[in-house]
Amino acid sequence: MSGRPVLLRGGRVVDGERGTIETTDVRILGDRIVEVGRLSPGRDELVRDVDGLCVAPGWIDTHTHADCAAFLNSENQPLALANLRQGVTTQVCGNCGYGAFPVSEPHRDDLTEHLVPALGPGTRGFPSMQAWARAVSDAPLYTNLAPLVGHGTVRASVMGFEDRAATDSEVTRMEQLLSECLEQGAFGLSTGLIYSPGVFATMEELVRLARVSARHGAPYVSHLRNETDHVQQAVQEAIEIGRQSAAGVHISHHKVAGRANWGSIQKTLGQIDQARAQGLDVTVDVYPYTAGSTALQAFQPPAGTGSSSPRHRPEPTPRDARWPAWPSRRITIPST
Ligand SMILES: [Zn+2]
Repeated sequence: MSGRPVLLRGGRVVDGERGTIETTDVRILGDRIVEVGRLSPGRDELVRDVDGLCVAPGWIDTHTHADCAAFLNSENQPLALANLRQGVTTQVCGNCGYGAFPVSEPHRDDLTEHLVPALGPGTRGFPSMQAWARAVSDAPLYTNLAPLVGHGTVRASVMGFEDRAATDSEVTRMEQLLSECLEQGAFGLSTGLIYSPGVFATMEELVRLARVSARHGAPYVSHLRNETDHVQQAVQEAIEIGRQSAAGVHISHHKVAGRANWGSIQKTLGQIDQARAQGLDVTVDVYPYTAGSTALQAFQPPAGTGSSSPRHRPEPTPRDARWPAWPSRRITIPST
C-alpha cells in the first residue's frame, strides 16, 4: 500500500452480501479500500465528489479476445483502453478456441493469419503460455488478463487445419500442450466449435482435453457447436463433456440465433437447470446486447475437402453433404 489516499464522497455503494444500496464515502489507499462510511477528508487526500454515481471495484469481463491488446501500437490506443473506460479491470481472454499460445513453429504463419480476426491488430503467436505472459508483462497493459487455452490453437499447432478426427497420438500431444499451459498459469480450456479447426473435433477429443482441464481444477469453456437450429444438441454436448470429464462447464455468450429459433432459450436454460440440479457445474454468460458478433468466415460451411487452413481455404461448397444443416442462407453486406 502506498501513494496518496483517495476519498470518494457521496457515492452509491452496493453491498452484494446485504443486498443494500447506501450513499456513503469510500477511502482508498494504494489498491485497497481502507474505510467505508461518513468520512472527513484527511490532509493531502485526493477528494473526488462522486455524488449519484455507483462506486464499484473493477469489473471482470468474462468474454474477451484481448490476448494481444498489450501489443497494440500507439494509433490503436483507444482500442487498448476501451475496456478500462467501461470499468473493466480484468479480462478473461483466449475465448472461442482462439489463443495466442501455444503456437508451434511449423504452423506459425497459418495460425497467426487465423487468429487475426479474433485477436485484432496486435496479434502475435507464442510458443508457450510463459512466453506470452512474459511479453504481456513487458508491454503496457491497462487491465489484468486471465487467459484460457484456445483449443483451436492447440489443435492447429499439433495437426494444422486438417478437417478430420485427430488420431490417438495427436490428442495425446494436445493433452501435453494443454497441461503445460495450465501448469504455467492458464485458467481453463476454451473451444470454438463453429470455427475451423475446432469444428472438426469429435466429442471424444474434447472430453479427453476437458479431463486435463479438470485435473487442474480449471473449467471447460465453450462457444457451442451450434447456436441456431441445433442449439439444444449443442448445449447437451457441452453438458455431456462436463459429465464425462468432471470439468466445470461454462457456455460462452449463450444465445439462440435465427427467427425460427426465437424463444428456444427457455429450453436450453431448462437443460442447464436440469444439469445443475444433478450436481453438474454449468454456467453461462451473455452479451449485453441483442446482436451477435463473429467473423464472416463463420458463415461459410467449414471447408470442402482436405486442408482448411485459412491460407489455403478451398472454395466453399454451400451445400456440402457433410454440413446439411449449415444455417447460413444469405449474407447481406451493407455499404458504409
Ligand atoms: Zn465465440
